[in-house]
Amino acid sequence: MLIGLCGGICAGKHAIAEYLIQHQGFQLLELDSKYHQRITDEPEDDLRLQASRIRKNRDASDLVFDTPDALLDFALKRWQEKWVTTDIADGSTLDRFLLRPFFLLVSVDAPVSLRWKRFSDRCWRRQLDPPDLEKFVLWNDRHLYEKDIGRVYLTDRAQVRLFNSSSSLEELHQSLQVLDLADEQRLRPNWDQYFMQLASLAAQRSNCMKRRVGCVLVRERRVISTGYNGTPRHLANCNEGGCPRCNRGDGGGVGLSTCLCLHAEENALLEAGRERIREGAILYCDTCPCLTCTVKIAQVGISEVVYSQGYNMDTESAAILEAAGVRLRQFSPPSNGLIYLQGSD
Ligand SMILES: [Zn+2]
Ligand SMILES: [Zn+2]
Ligand SMILES: [Zn+2]
Repeated sequence: MLIGLCGGICAGKHAIAEYLIQHQGFQLLELDSKYHQRITDEPEDDLRLQASRIRKNRDASDLVFDTPDALLDFALKRWQEKWVTTDIADGSTLDRFLLRPFFLLVSVDAPVSLRWKRFSDRCWRRQLDPPDLEKFVLWNDRHLYEKDIGRVYLTDRAQVRLFNSSSSLEELHQSLQVLDLADEQRLRPNWDQYFMQLASLAAQRSNCMKRRVGCVLVRERRVISTGYNGTPRHLANCNEGGCPRCNRGDGGGVGLSTCLCLHAEENALLEAGRERIREGAILYCDTCPCLTCTVKIAQVGISEVVYSQGYNMDTESAAILEAAGVRLRQFSPPSNGLIYLQGSD
């Protein structure tokens, strides 16, 4: 696999690369510094700070490349080994890297006050005058947000997003050990993740004022149908006033029998039709099915229900499904929010 690390000045991408190299068997792939300067067009001050990067055998090593494509090609031919780079600097390069299933983009961020402190410490160690906070913030803004070359385009697309507020290298290393970035499962969603994400995608089409719900029916790892909740065809959508009950904002469960909205599970079951739902069919839903959906799920012969979030009648639904011989399982996909790298105290 190839891990690309990106992030703001002194966020910690080199520290993380160094950890992967020392503790997890990764090797560093670098771009020739001339390429780097040309692409990033960094001002002299920035180059001074870049000079503090890990550059032991720079320009003399086999692992330094003239272009990003040469670097990518090298990693492609050796995908079973572990590679890391911190040299992806522009969006079109990143797009080409993200096309490859052996590539994982990891972003690292940290509070600007902490990054300034880390940068100042680094300057002191090199007997240079550190910039004041204002100057550092200006560099930082340019580095992240400058049109066309700003790094925020890269960090926005990261598959794993880290927040490195750790106060020491030991603390950072401990967090990274627990996190295990080298886990190959991060490269590709497993089947549960894949179908649950499809259910969440379907939920985005929901028009019900009460709650967005999405559902996917699967057999032998193939999608049979999808559904989301809302009013039936030809009726005004719930979010356009189609269901008076939902639009009144009554509390959960109040006036349920007057609701005109079909549930996501109902829509997916109706769409599939009974013939296509046979032994082994799995229903993925981002919310645990309600009672009226549960009895329909039991009746059409679904074998297993997988849901990600609880609802307000989970215990009752679970009892019905158990009695009907339908397996019920909760699976919540890993969130893609910020992962905090800091002590757990
Ligand atoms: Zn509704
Ligand atoms: Zn309704
Ligand atoms: Zn329901």
